Amino acid sequence: SFSLPMLENVAIPDVNNPVRLNFNENALGMSPRAKQAAIDAVPKANRYAKAEMPLLNKRLAKHHKVDDTQILLTAGSSEGIRSAIAAFVKPNTQLVIPELTYGDGEHFAKIFNLKITKVPSLPDWQIDIKGIQKAAEDYNGFSIVYLVNPNNPTSTVFATSEIESWIKSKPKNTIFIVDEAYAEFVNDPAFESVDKLITQGYDNVILLKTFSKIHAMAGLRVGYVVSSVENIKNIAQYIAGEKLNYCGVCAALASIDDQPFLTYSKKAVDVSRQIMEKALSDLGLHYLKSQTNFMFHKSPIDLKDYRELMKNNFILIGRDFNPATNWCRISLGSPSEMLYVAKVMRELKEKGKI
Ligand code: PLP
Repeated sequence: SFSLPMLENVAIPDVNNPVRLNFNENALGMSPRAKQAAIDAVPKANRYAKAEMPLLNKRLAKHHKVDDTQILLTAGSSEGIRSAIAAFVKPNTQLVIPELTYGDGEHFAKIFNLKITKVPSLPDWQIDIKGIQKAAEDYNGFSIVYLVNPNNPTSTVFATSEIESWIKSKPKNTIFIVDEAYAEFVNDPAFESVDKLITQGYDNVILLKTFSKIHAMAGLRVGYVVSSVENIKNIAQYIAGEKLNYCGVCAALASIDDQPFLTYSKKAVDVSRQIMEKALSDLGLHYLKSQTNFMFHKSPIDLKDYRELMKNNFILIGRDFNPATNWCRISLGSPSEMLYVAKVMRELKEKGKI
């Protein structure tokens, strides 16, 4: 069993050990069982993970209630995004995305020379699903719709019901790639995974998942794709090879069954979020209701200066996210780290610096 990091322990970072809140990583470190599995795998890593990969594949199929042939293991979800887009590149293809979302979709689509269509957001950066649908329907060609739910960098969700009827109507010339990297952190019941649509047999949805976030395994590079058998066969042609990091596969197998750790991992983020929400409210800074391990708030000063000021206090925060000028993404570290961040922010406010 796990207990939360002591709340009275305020982290004491320094220049060599800053609080890293710039990449949406999981500050807790991976599950002790996963760590041990990775260590135990090192002496065997002169071999390929031939025996372990099918075990992980099977376990994930069970998790999503699909057939083993509907899962494709990838090196993080980054490889999933790239290979899923590559698999659907044909003449006259556009990538449709919200104007403010995770950048890899656009990045990879550009490599494949796809047209990029960005749909303006609703107030507070909410995703305009109707606008995205219109952009796909109005296009004279094939549309890859890439949706991140919950979204990055906004931290918010759209209700799954908003896209469900659109997907179920099986629109011609449209494929949906749904990136649910942060799904395990969500508290809003309006969010549901699209895996249920895949289970129900809809073959126009591709779900992307990762072990980088709730499982705290970003550096071990394990992710996977869930879709129809045919889509998986197609996407599999575009991954780097059928072999994955041995330690990563073994750690993932241990982590997926470590429910106490996963509960702890979510709970720690919930506590960190409460600390940060209170600090932002006390400082009068507008923020979006976070469903993830990061928060998006209005920067109190020019974002570049804010980043510098925080860095001088050993806190690394998010980069610019266009077109959200002077909005700041702060990842949620451990509760003790967030107590430190809250303390620094209050002090900066008292000194009139923010
Ligand atoms: N998808 C989203 C929405 C992300 O925020 C990230 C990383 O931050 C990724 C995918 C890629 O992560 P990884 O390749 O580690 O799974």
